[in-house]
Amino acid sequence: MTAELTRSALRPTGVGDLFQLLRDGRPRTRADLAAVTGQARSTIAARVDTLLTSGLVAPAGEAGSTGGRPPATFAFNPRARVVLAVDLGATHARLAVTDLAGQVLAEHHEALAIGAGPDPVLDRVARVGTDLVAQAGRTSGDLVSVGVGLPGPVDHATGRPTNPPIMPGWDDADVPGHLGRLLGAPVLVDNDVNLMALGEHASTYPEVDHLLFIKVATGIGAGIISDGQIRRGAQGTAGDLGHIAVPGGHDLPCRCGNTGCLEALASGHAVAAALAAQGLDVASSADVVALVRSGDIPASRAVRQAGRDIGGVLAACVSLLNPSLIVVGGVVAEAGEHLLAGIREVVYRRSLPLATQHLRIVTTRTRGRAGVLGASAMAAEHVLSPAAIEALLG
Ligand SMILES: [Zn+2]
Repeated sequence: MTAELTRSALRPTGVGDLFQLLRDGRPRTRADLAAVTGQARSTIAARVDTLLTSGLVAPAGEAGSTGGRPPATFAFNPRARVVLAVDLGATHARLAVTDLAGQVLAEHHEALAIGAGPDPVLDRVARVGTDLVAQAGRTSGDLVSVGVGLPGPVDHATGRPTNPPIMPGWDDADVPGHLGRLLGAPVLVDNDVNLMALGEHASTYPEVDHLLFIKVATGIGAGIISDGQIRRGAQGTAGDLGHIAVPGGHDLPCRCGNTGCLEALASGHAVAAALAAQGLDVASSADVVALVRSGDIPASRAVRQAGRDIGGVLAACVSLLNPSLIVVGGVVAEAGEHLLAGIREVVYRRSLPLATQHLRIVTTRTRGRAGVLGASAMAAEHVLSPAAIEALLG
């Protein structure tokens, strides 16, 4: 019974499944689609008409022909609708209106303190978001969903933050309800690191099915893509690496109440504090990065050691998850090769050769945009999944 259900669920039958075949953007003819799905030409023709009427699929010219009238082709039209992507950090907000394929149409970045609480922050997000939709030359009717990343744990099913340590006043806040009322579209919420992993995957490494994104900033966390899907775990806390104990770090107190956590040794905040204790003039992750870039030797050494501590924890992750790519992002990653060198040194030494034979460890290529691109991908998926298309057009 279960196998039967699984098979019928996988067979591409409805308009939602047909649409998935077109999402890669390649133009196809009705005959191509009939050949791939094994469905009758008449069935395909009716479903293509439905998709054309929705605007989600558009004519893409004529295919080459060996004689007679050349057949028409169709392709996904990502500009048919737009989504609003929101990346909220501890002290900043980045918002973008993108098309359904993650192409940024309008963008805004500003300082915004998450600690001000949900009401003023979400009101501001809605105001800026509404302006961006207009700036992109679109109307509120074109906005089909909103994706939001928050710098703390989020119950993905309800979109509510759960005891977020650096977000006073946000515990259990109804982010989807508040923003949904102001923007008139469904709102999806996730933690920022999961969205960075999604954004890096969608924008730069769509062909990589097993990817770990590590954010090294004030805190340390990971987003896990496995079999092409983001893995959030039972309570949405999968990838929370910051409070794993590091061997040799047992004396250092951590803000979580334990001692010897990775975050207490290797976060930007921890490195800054250690350098300040040596008499250097550093207060933040950004100061650490600036010092390393200026060629300061103690700062470069400290960042490399932070990389080794992170590498020790990542070696265990590599054994557990067997990723083929680790992408390192967050403010401290801007320090460049020193952090990466420390991570590589320990991961390659402490993991089994088979696991690291094809493992690449690289810095992010999205230049601070990973979170907003991930929010866009999550929001677009919400309206383009087979079930969503079926509900809309089926
Ligand atoms: Zn801790």
